[in-house]
Amino acid sequence: MKRIIIGHLYPDELNLYGDRGNIEALVYRGAKMGVVLDVIEIDSRTTGASSLFAKADILFMGGGPDSLQKEITEDFLREKGPFVKEYFNKGGVGLFICGAYQLLGKYYKPFFGDPILGLGIADFYTEHLGRDFPRCVGNIIVDISTTKIPTGFSKFLVGFENHGGRTFLGQDLTPLGKVVMGSGNNGKEKREGIFLKNFIGTYLHGPILPKNPHLTDFLLMTALRKKGYTNRLKEPLYDRIEILTHQAALKLKR
Ligand code: GLN
Repeated sequence: MKRIIIGHLYPDELNLYGDRGNIEALVYRGAKMGVVLDVIEIDSRTTGASSLFAKADILFMGGGPDSLQKEITEDFLREKGPFVKEYFNKGGVGLFICGAYQLLGKYYKPFFGDPILGLGIADFYTEHLGRDFPRCVGNIIVDISTTKIPTGFSKFLVGFENHGGRTFLGQDLTPLGKVVMGSGNNGKEKREGIFLKNFIGTYLHGPILPKNPHLTDFLLMTALRKKGYTNRLKEPLYDRIEILTHQAALKLKR
């Protein structure tokens, strides 16, 4: 029996807009592939991080308000960060939503208070640009056709964004996709998220995975291949609900 271990980081603190639903989508679609998914919750009370990250196949971390990003950041940087970086460098699969995405970068400067330091896994940062820059809120559509995510089902990702911070990627960094509708990273560059090795950072809540089964399956298949499973999916697992939900979301207005 194929088995995948998901490390779910700060599930109680970082779960804005039901981001926990992404775990459910991974477990549900993994089961359809004949894969058993074990979920390990990791937060500031968790000890033995080294062995947990060593056996994780997918890391997931959700979004959250500035206050909760501040609350977890000391543990995230000091206790879990070194293992997240090592996991990232070894090509581990990860999905980081909004506030979690911001904390992968060098820092996030919120509207109030000092900058919140991030892991700095690559050259990008996030800043709230002040009173004249309202929150980026609304339905969002992203074209992912330039990425390695199979687009047989759809070349888009659909979701919902709500963030005050604006993220700016360094020169050589690859975004997750091109914004078709919405703000994305900063509302100016028409780029959304980041795609680094096998880490995906994105502003798409929703939660993102139930409405984008092609992304869910990409994360699962990448993790399976990394464990040496080479069998291919017999046929796409997309069923009516996923298709109808995705198509309906493509018709939503901002
Ligand atoms: N607090 C961050 C911001 O406002 C992230 C919000 C979120 O995770 N939805 O930009």
